[in-house]
Amino acid sequence: MASQEIETLASALARLPGLGPRSARRAVLWLVKRRDNALDPLINALVAVRDRLVECETCSNVDTQNPCGICADPRRDQKSICVVEDVSDLWALDRAKLFTGRYHVLGGKLSAMDGVRPEDLNIAALLGRVADGGIDEIVLAMNATLEGQTTAHYIAERLEEFPIRITQLAHGLPVGGELDYLDEGTLAQALRARRPVD
Ligand SMILES: [Zn+2]
Repeated sequence: MASQEIETLASALARLPGLGPRSARRAVLWLVKRRDNALDPLINALVAVRDRLVECETCSNVDTQNPCGICADPRRDQKSICVVEDVSDLWALDRAKLFTGRYHVLGGKLSAMDGVRPEDLNIAALLGRVADGGIDEIVLAMNATLEGQTTAHYIAERLEEFPIRITQLAHGLPVGGELDYLDEGTLAQALRARRPVD
């Protein structure tokens, strides 16, 4: 029987995406056997993340600075904003290194089933950024799911009053595909072939 401490750690790890109770226990054992070269670095990394990560007030990216490194970078195209559902999508797109503008993270997608309404998402802040002026293009990079596309259409409608170009990722994206899981080539292709919202 494992100690209370090990049980506590295992059940905390078991809540991580992709880990179940069994693999969490295996991870705990693996870690305690490697105190110096795995457990301590993990503890230090967790503490650094807890102490230093903040949400960017402009785009809601997560970074160690606010505004985040992307928003603060003067070499970035200030005229285009790529709208994504989650921070993981922003990171996936930015790894593909094709989009040179800045981002806006919604914090989810519209969902009747989960009761997510427009006011639950970071949409008002996006409209505010566009209303402030200086924006030429909004790229809607929602996932190729029904809810993602519903969200994209809703935002496109809300942006109609502004004299800007509204595009969305080309759907060579697999249907039901989550950006986060796509390889960089596929993402880059979807971004390069982006098209006006219909
Ligand atoms: Zn930012």
